[in-house]
Amino acid sequence: MYFAGVDLGGTKIAAALVDRGRNVLSRIQVATVPEEGVKAVISRITGSVKALVDDAGIRLQDVAGICVGAPGPVDRDAGTVLDAPNLGWRSVGLAAIVARELGRPTCIENDANAAALAESRLGAGVNSRAMLYITVSTGVGGGLVLDGRLYRGARGGAGEIGHITMVPNGPLCSCGSRGCLEAVASGTAIARRGQELASRPAGRTIAAIAGSGPVTARVVAEAARQGDPTASAILREAFEYLGTAVASALNLLDLDAVVIGGGVSQVGDVLFDTVKQKVAVLAYPPEAAARCRIVPASLGTDAGVLGAACCAVEEYS
Ligand SMILES: [Zn+2]
Repeated sequence: MYFAGVDLGGTKIAAALVDRGRNVLSRIQVATVPEEGVKAVISRITGSVKALVDDAGIRLQDVAGICVGAPGPVDRDAGTVLDAPNLGWRSVGLAAIVARELGRPTCIENDANAAALAESRLGAGVNSRAMLYITVSTGVGGGLVLDGRLYRGARGGAGEIGHITMVPNGPLCSCGSRGCLEAVASGTAIARRGQELASRPAGRTIAAIAGSGPVTARVVAEAARQGDPTASAILREAFEYLGTAVASALNLLDLDAVVIGGGVSQVGDVLFDTVKQKVAVLAYPPEAAARCRIVPASLGTDAGVLGAACCAVEEYS
């Protein structure tokens, strides 16, 4: 019995075939090219699954089920991708189309939920009972694995820590609200803050590193690495918001592990030290901070595809 996981991203589609023990038998990656439309993207998804099956020398009928991890909120029961701006998708009934094309049971999962499951089964969250996964990159996503199971909430939307309010009336968020964690702590937020300051004297190191290019989170991180106090302050402020959100989640859920991944987490110590300091101050009871591991994700960009495969194993075993 085999299972297929597909990670549908804005730029690439990654797919993996696994056995019941979650061992990878074959994998493939293709460009998404969302501008060619929904139909073309879905045919690349089904084509990827067929290629996995061919590579592994098995038959499509030997695949017990498929899970597609998709960006943005999903309606898991309906198998619908509700809103994925970087794909240009709104209300796409993805699971039913893939199931019909391939003749195999298919479910969908939010990509951060899938990554959370992967980290809890195969990565930095193994052996935790109450784990929060956070991915900090262009946006801020999250997923919860509670009592060893992915916690999806009533409709599959749980874990969206990126959209809890940190600053009432703060900067506009991609979701339309203001002052969400994503609006103050994502790579996009760090870049925006760097851009604002780059034209002032205090931001000259940031401006020099950016050169003729745009100020990105990477530019701000590099300036901080070189000892620039303005860049360091931008990062510290963003990561203090992140730490405050983590502490709130810890107090709500009595977490024993917080796993942080995504491109921005690559800055390393400055993020983890700041988050831990905030949590040490805000955790209730105070001992809760010591009981909770706050650690980097260990699966990198593989978390999405492995997570979708783990979801398929758990759904169709
Ligand atoms: Zn938001």
